[in-house]
Amino acid sequence: MSIWFSYDEVALDLERPLTPQACPICGSTFLESKINTGLCFVSKCGECFHEFTSQDEVFSKEVYDELYFEETHKNWFANPQTKLFKKICKLIERHKALTKFGDFDLLDVGCGKGALLKYISTYFPKSNLTGIDLGEPPLDLDPRIIIKKSSFDAFQETGSYDVVVSTAVIEHLSNPKDFLLRIKQFLNSDGLIIIVTVDSTTPLYIAAKIMRMIGAGLPFRRLYDPHHLNHFTKDSLPRLVKDQGFKICFSGGVNVPLKSLDIPSSTLIQEFFYKLGVRNLFFLGSLLGHPFLQILAFKKSE
Ligand SMILES: [Zn+2]
Repeated sequence: MSIWFSYDEVALDLERPLTPQACPICGSTFLESKINTGLCFVSKCGECFHEFTSQDEVFSKEVYDELYFEETHKNWFANPQTKLFKKICKLIERHKALTKFGDFDLLDVGCGKGALLKYISTYFPKSNLTGIDLGEPPLDLDPRIIIKKSSFDAFQETGSYDVVVSTAVIEHLSNPKDFLLRIKQFLNSDGLIIIVTVDSTTPLYIAAKIMRMIGAGLPFRRLYDPHHLNHFTKDSLPRLVKDQGFKICFSGGVNVPLKSLDIPSSTLIQEFFYKLGVRNLFFLGSLLGHPFLQILAFKKSE
C-alpha cells in the first residue's frame, strides 16, 4: 500500500526522503515526530513543540466552498458560539480608549455568515462593523454590517480599524506570521486584535492521541484534518504574536457548545457516546485551564 494512503503510519517514514519543513513559529527544521494521517503529514517541532502541516504535505486540498459551510461544518455555522461572542465583547469593552463613545470600527477576518458581527452590533449599537469571508454573504444582513466576499490577501480597503477579530481562521493558514503582519497594516496605533483558535493541549487532543495509539484513529484524523494546518499551544500562539511585535493584553479560553460540533458517527448510539466523551473532556479542560478554544488579545507594542 502506498504510504500516502496508509492510515496507520506512525512517525517518520524512513524510506521516503522528506523535504525539511521549517516550523512556522520558531523556524526550526528539527522535528520531534511526523505522522501520516492518511490525508496529510502532521509534524511536531522538536524545538517549540508546535504541530503543523505543510501545504505540500496535504494529500487532498480543502476547498472553502458552500459545501464547507452547509455540509462539512453544518453544526458549527448553525449554532453560534454565544459564550465566545460575549467574551469577545467583554474584551472590547475593557479597551476603554476605543469604546468610550462606542462608535469604533471593527473588522472580522473570516466572518463566515456574520454571526459574531450580528452579536457585536447588538452589544455595541454604535459600532461600525465590516467582515470579509470567502463565502457568499448572507442576504438577511443588518444594513449596519458590511460583509465583503474576498480573501484577506485581496482585501484592498485602506481604512484602519480599532479592533480586528479573527475566530477559527489562523489554524487554516500556512503562514500565520504573514497573516498577523497583514492585520497590523489595518490596525490603528492603539488598536486591539483578538484571535481565537483551538488549543492543541486541551484534553480532547490528548485523548485523541492516546486513542490513536491503541488503534482508534478516527478522533485523531478528525482533529488533525488537513483543513487545520497549525495546531497552536498556549505557548506557540503567544510566541508567534510577540515575535511579530505585539504585546499581549489577555489570554484565556472557552469551550464550544456540544451541538456546534460536527462529530462524524455512523449511528445515534455512537454519536451519543462520542458527545458524552467530548463533554467530559471539555469539563476536564476547563478545570485544567485548557478549554477547547484559546483567546488571545494583543496590541502593537511600539
Ligand atoms: Zn518550532
